[in-house]
Amino acid sequence: MVKDDCIFCKLAHGEIPSTTIYEDESFRVYFDIAPATKGHCLIIPKEHYADIFEIDPKTAGKLFELATAVAKGLKKVLGCDGMNIMQNNGSIAGQTVFHFHLHLIPRYEGDGIDFHYAHSEANMEELAQIAKEIRANI
Ligand code: AMP
Ligand code: ZN
Repeated sequence: MVKDDCIFCKLAHGEIPSTTIYEDESFRVYFDIAPATKGHCLIIPKEHYADIFEIDPKTAGKLFELATAVAKGLKKVLGCDGMNIMQNNGSIAGQTVFHFHLHLIPRYEGDGIDFHYAHSEANMEELAQIAKEIRANI
């Protein structure tokens, strides 16, 4: 399905331009227009899924399989020292484009990017209970 007002649907089908690294019938990989680092790119399914809660698991699996190959290509060509894989779901989580996309962000020594957050203390009893409930819902 293609969503009329979705910028990444348009981009997926070549209706708006992108710097494409790779495409096949199901996916497009292209450079982020406002990159965090050199080589920052996005992988999208051509079908419209808003987020992780909507994407079909088989498509998500294939997308991640492709991500492993793209990550290796980026590393080989750009010589990055590491890589963050990021995938935001919902505005609270920083999602701004509501068509599923996986960020590949090559990292370089001294690039100054900081994804760190403050850690809290885990309540083990509460976590065990929640784990049980989630298990029943997977
Ligand atoms: P997110 O905040 O996870 O929803 O990420 C959306 C990303 O899409 C941002 O990093 C934007 O810079 C990027 N972006 C938005 N429009 C375009 C576009 N036309 N071409 C490439 N990247 C885009
Ligand atoms: Zn879309």
